[in-house]
Amino acid sequence: MDTITVVVPCYNEEDVLKNFYAEITKVASEMQKVKFEIIFIDDGSKDKTLDIIKDYLKLDSRVKYISFSRNFGKEAAIYAGLKAAIGKYVVIIDADLQHPPRLIKDMYYGITQEGYDSVAAYRINRKGENKIRSFFSKIFFKLASKITRLDFRQGEEDYRMMNRKFLEAVLSIKEKNRFAKGIFQWVGFNVKWIGHENVNRVAGESKWSLFKLFTYSIDGIIGFSGIPLIIVSVIGGVLCLIGIVLGILLVIKSLISDANISTSLILIVVSILMGGVQLFIFGILGQYLGKSYLETKQRPLYIVKEEKILDNKEIEIDGEVKVQI
Ligand code: UDP
Ligand code: MG
Repeated sequence: MDTITVVVPCYNEEDVLKNFYAEITKVASEMQKVKFEIIFIDDGSKDKTLDIIKDYLKLDSRVKYISFSRNFGKEAAIYAGLKAAIGKYVVIIDADLQHPPRLIKDMYYGITQEGYDSVAAYRINRKGENKIRSFFSKIFFKLASKITRLDFRQGEEDYRMMNRKFLEAVLSIKEKNRFAKGIFQWVGFNVKWIGHENVNRVAGESKWSLFKLFTYSIDGIIGFSGIPLIIVSVIGGVLCLIGIVLGILLVIKSLISDANISTSLILIVVSILMGGVQLFIFGILGQYLGKSYLETKQRPLYIVKEEKILDNKEIEIDGEVKVQI
């Protein structure tokens, strides 16, 4: 019998946990051929979240929990849950029911029957969402896809199921500044996308302020790309060019006309040139820093999807093929 581990990051979710538990157990009871393990990760909640989880634990042997000593953020909670999961398949889901639990059935079907390694959910619209937030999210997904060259999908969420192979790959990435959506894209494999309507929180409030989302987005992009540093160098290079061209024009002007060139004009040209040179050098220094930053993450060089390595390796010695057993 297959086991699905459900990983649920929770931060101050006392208002929604009852609804969530009712929904997830309903889905579990509809999937009779599958066993469930439900791991709640209490991310340092200050309300009754942990007490409620402990109540469920007493009643239901499928329930487990990990409770953090303080709020470490959703990324840390996801990682802890993924690491602890024992299921053959693992699904990450929010506690606020914005991720419809019924999709777990479709995800399970996608992996077990259609052969996908992971099935991910995305919102097909943003009905009911704060307009400013929608606007910035849309820009983020466009920008992030361009800059990181990863294929982010508009409306992508952290709601996805994965098989063990996919999970091991995700866990093999040990970096501390984690951006799950980037990691899921980075590991590759065959992924199926399922769209669903936007759902508002059943209760409680979003734990993400616009500012927190903004810094998280920047983290996401910087963690997967050195292109922002190249942009700095390019701006520096362009400023240098402008400075040089203006400088040459000034020299030509002083040679062909008798009129004095104003010192402030010369100062402006020199400062454009110097600013450009400095920015260019910063960009180059940044490149070295960026490369060593990426190295410190010690990501694997590649991730294998399948392999067949012959037991009898053929080695060539002096043009003769010998078989090594
Ligand atoms: N969450 C968490 N730690 C945090 C913030 C959020 O574990 O520091 C959990 C939260 O309890 C919820 C999920 O992450 O289950 C998504 O959070 P939220 O609904 O606030 O984000 P939004 O849906 O507004 O993006
Ligand atoms: Mg939410």
